[in-house]
Amino acid sequence: MISFDRMAEAAKDLDETDPLARFRGRFLGSADVVSYLDGNSLGRPPRETDAVMSEFIRQSWGERLIRGWSDGWLDWPRTLGDRLGEIGLGAAAGQVVVADSTTVLLYKLARAALAARPDRREIVLDTDNFPTDRYVLEGIAAECGLALRWVRTDPAAGITVEQVAGAVGPDTALVVFSHAAYRSGYVADAEAITRLAHEAGALILWDLCHSVGVLPVQLDDWGVDLAVGCTYKYLNGGPGSPAFAYVNAHHHAALHQPIQGWLGRADPFGMGPGYVPADGIQRFISGTPPILGMVPLRGALDMLAEAGLPAVRAKSLQLTGFVLDFADAELSRYGVTVASPRDPARRGGHITLRRADFRDITDRLWERGVIPDFRAPDGIRVGLAPLSTSFTEVFAGLSVLRELVCATP
Ligand SMILES: *Cc1c(COP(=O)(O)O)cnc(C)c1O
Repeated sequence: MISFDRMAEAAKDLDETDPLARFRGRFLGSADVVSYLDGNSLGRPPRETDAVMSEFIRQSWGERLIRGWSDGWLDWPRTLGDRLGEIGLGAAAGQVVVADSTTVLLYKLARAALAARPDRREIVLDTDNFPTDRYVLEGIAAECGLALRWVRTDPAAGITVEQVAGAVGPDTALVVFSHAAYRSGYVADAEAITRLAHEAGALILWDLCHSVGVLPVQLDDWGVDLAVGCTYKYLNGGPGSPAFAYVNAHHHAALHQPIQGWLGRADPFGMGPGYVPADGIQRFISGTPPILGMVPLRGALDMLAEAGLPAVRAKSLQLTGFVLDFADAELSRYGVTVASPRDPARRGGHITLRRADFRDITDRLWERGVIPDFRAPDGIRVGLAPLSTSFTEVFAGLSVLRELVCATP
């Protein structure tokens, strides 16, 4: 009991000294939610999004109509991409576009990379990558007659430099991993792994879905070739908001993506015969950009810029540290185990806890207004979006979890 009270005190103290505490009130709350522990799956809406969307519909769409395209909508994939590159990706201008979905961009970039390594037959990936990554690459391997080389990763950890060193070789065309593992949150050493892929003569494609907006990312400095990620998790873009692709400028001229649409063509409004790729990052666009879906992202990126990624990462580590402390002090005696790294250098923005009955417990948590998500076979994933989550909120959620696990030992 003593330690439980101490955790409650610690949560209050952490909130009082939290330099980002003021951001929480800038998100819409939800009346029946006691503790939202899933901002890594769908970020909360920023409060201003409501007015910004409605203004966009009335003014930009309603008044400007088709003229909106010449007012700047056609540039949004690149201007928003540049802004995201600067704030969250360590990418100089002209290398990021906002478009499509992560799944579609993965396909486009992986195909482009493989076409640039025609004499190599293997794609290196890992068994615990996010399902869409595995399925897309399985499809591409079948389509292009290539082989998949699977690295077996521990679902409670993630892909290591040693494992990659043992998997890449002279036949590796492309290497694809997640920077932060979707189950454990394990943060891969992206810089060292990128170097290994390059030493083998391969290209590398990083999935940043679980790192963008919460972890420091330095794509240019790390020498990354390609990356994709979504904007509805830590970036608060809203359900199904478009994804982003990074293509290092060194590769623009040599890479050709397979979905040759009109807006990726040079001089698209010339409407000429035959496909000629546009220069630069524009060639990775296929069709009409999802403008409406980009509106919330603009304000959300401004908020992230205002907070600053280093401060966001610092709070994220405190939040995950708090969950680990609570789990050790209050949950481990009921058979709950931690399936995430403890080392801060390898720890991402969420913590996965395990117990055999967590599928049922998740339903009971949701009934009580505590919203984490469940990941088969037995993991509760506690997601901690730093800008919209307080320590007392996390304490409240974990307290309900404690009550449920001690009632059914
Ligand atoms: C969320 C997530 C995706 C989602 O892809 P969609 O095309 O947006 O459905 C992909 N990869 C990872 C690692 C994710 O966490």
